[in-house]
Amino acid sequence: MIEFFDVSRFYPGDITAVSNITFSIQPGEMVFLTGPSGAGKSTLLKMIAAIEKPDDGTLTVNGQDIANLRPAGIASLRQNLGLVLQQQALLEDRTILDNVMLPLIVTGTSRAEAEARANAALDKVDLADRAWFRPQTLSGGEQQRVAVARAIVNKPKIILADEPTTNLDRESAVKVIDAISFFQSAGVTCIIATHDGQLLERANRIIYLKQGRLIKSEQRVRPQTGR
Ligand code: ADP
Ligand code: ADP
Repeated sequence: MIEFFDVSRFYPGDITAVSNITFSIQPGEMVFLTGPSGAGKSTLLKMIAAIEKPDDGTLTVNGQDIANLRPAGIASLRQNLGLVLQQQALLEDRTILDNVMLPLIVTGTSRAEAEARANAALDKVDLADRAWFRPQTLSGGEQQRVAVARAIVNKPKIILADEPTTNLDRESAVKVIDAISFFQSAGVTCIIATHDGQLLERANRIIYLKQGRLIKSEQRVRPQTGR
């Protein structure tokens, strides 16, 4: 589903963000990208979303070469991607429900259907009872789970999460990861970049990066998440 073949990405000033990376991710996998700050995790995610393009090598997502995508191809790729970022841009003057409905409204879904699907998404991240609250009344961890709901409300095939648990306590962080992993069990491919080693015990596949290089790819048996 996602194949990196000898991919490199450079930035001006002689910065090698990603260097000769080769690995692939199968549909339905949950993969953690880990390594210290600056290792290239974010750059890998940005390339999968076609926010950045490889300077060298080949990256294909759903059989499409990212380097050759035209704007229409990028738009359709992004419709199949849910993004969860470290700082959520939840709209403070709208309810949680409105925030989660937004991706559906902008793509032309009727209000009634958008509302039903947003409520269902909130239910899956265990926040159905907060639909009418405003974002600022929720904890950081709850806001991140709203972001997960908003990312999946369009039913993407892939979720990309970049440091989704930054600044969260351990219990809240685990709930965010469990919310993402619930969608994995529903068949969504999940890729999570994190430098938090403690979260890796939830992982069944871990890719270790350092200074832009892939150091190790490890397969594990994951404990039950309790959901
Ligand atoms: P991580 O997500 O693991 O912290 P990044 O992918 O953000 O790593 O960054 C990898 C390297 O590329 C770092 O050295 C970073 O400073 C550099 N980098 C990332 N984005 C840019 C950019 N837009 N311009 C220049 N350098 C960048
Ligand atoms: P993220 O990589 O999660 O977007 P960062 O804090 O690493 O967040 O980067 C913020 C912005 O600055 C991004 O647009 C990134 O591309 C850019 N950036 C990161 N590192 C560098 C760098 N060394 N030089 C210039 N721009 C950078």
